[in-house]
Amino acid sequence: MEQQAIYQRLCGIVGEANVRKMEPMKRHTTFRIGGAADFFVLPQTKEELAELVRFCKKDGVPWHVMGNGSNLLVADAGVPGVVIQLFKNFSRITLEDTVLCAQAGAINAQVAKRALEASLAGFEFAAGIPGTIGGAVVMNAGAYGGEMKDILLETEVLDGDGQFRNLKNEELELGYRTSIIAKKGYVVTEVKLKLEKGAGEQILARMEELRERRTMRQPLEYPSAGSTFKRPEGYFAGKLIMDAGLAGCAVGGAKVSEKHCGFVINTGEATAEDVECLMAKIQRTVREKFGVELEPEVKRLGGR
Ligand SMILES: Cc1cc2nc3c(=O)[nH]c(=O)nc-3n(C[C@H](O)[C@H](O)[C@H](O)COP(=O)(O)OP(=O)(O)OC[C@H]3O[C@@H](n4cnc5c(N)ncnc54)[C@H](O)[C@@H]3O)c2cc1C
Repeated sequence: MEQQAIYQRLCGIVGEANVRKMEPMKRHTTFRIGGAADFFVLPQTKEELAELVRFCKKDGVPWHVMGNGSNLLVADAGVPGVVIQLFKNFSRITLEDTVLCAQAGAINAQVAKRALEASLAGFEFAAGIPGTIGGAVVMNAGAYGGEMKDILLETEVLDGDGQFRNLKNEELELGYRTSIIAKKGYVVTEVKLKLEKGAGEQILARMEELRERRTMRQPLEYPSAGSTFKRPEGYFAGKLIMDAGLAGCAVGGAKVSEKHCGFVINTGEATAEDVECLMAKIQRTVREKFGVELEPEVKRLGGR
């Protein structure tokens, strides 16, 4: 299908104001890296989202969904097809007793704020994870001893047939930074969390404590996508990388953070190629020195 015809169809579904052509993805990733997406689309309703997905599937247009881009490494060559972002356009949060219901694009900090206002405990661990709640479910995001699996009641997804379904926690196969969602190609549209009544001051104190720990230990002053590699069984990726002598090791603008070796940071003008080369070098060195295979936690998107 011609690019112009695709553009017109997308505008017909979500309105011209919500479709951008050749949108630089570095504007939408916390790594500040990534070439242009052919089309960057912001649906405003579930119906628009379902229609977008149906159109892309029927007409063979490649499509991808993203949240805040805080776990994404987007190729320098950009992303063919359609990138659908669920973010501010999809961020309503409501409460029913101790159940917090959030649309997929709500950012974790907003969800945490809402939980705190209602004196609901359980989400403190995720308050500083800089993604959307949808991305957090897909990745089964976790920190400081908590993970989404612990508090997730159910999630609404758009399935491969364009139908909305509710999946219970047990049906999501939530594991260490994985779930069934990516494997099945579902889109998370809404998330229900089961929280507990707590004391406001304690919830706030825990959030503050974890925020300080992050600020002290993580290179938050640089763009990154968080931990570059998953934690290998029995080890810590950051420690292995440090012990391999790779602290400060750089390729182009990409560098192993000296503050936390588990993070590859963008020191200014890093390209995805720089990051890829550095990741390969880290994997090779750690394999040679310790016989441990590091598996990327960041998700790659795009390439032509
Ligand atoms: C400084 C920093 C610190 C971090 N700390 C942590 C941490 O402590 N713990 C942790 O687990 N992670 C951490 N991360 C990584 C990242 O924040 C999480 O993985 C987060 O959950 C990703 O959410 P997102 O909305 O940004 O998703 P994106 O990066 O936009 O997407 C990630 C993946 O999820 C998919 N996806 C996103 N939204 C949806 C949706 N609605 N439906 C279907 N698929 C979707 C995308 O296709 C992609 O495959 C950190 C990142 C940074 C930059």
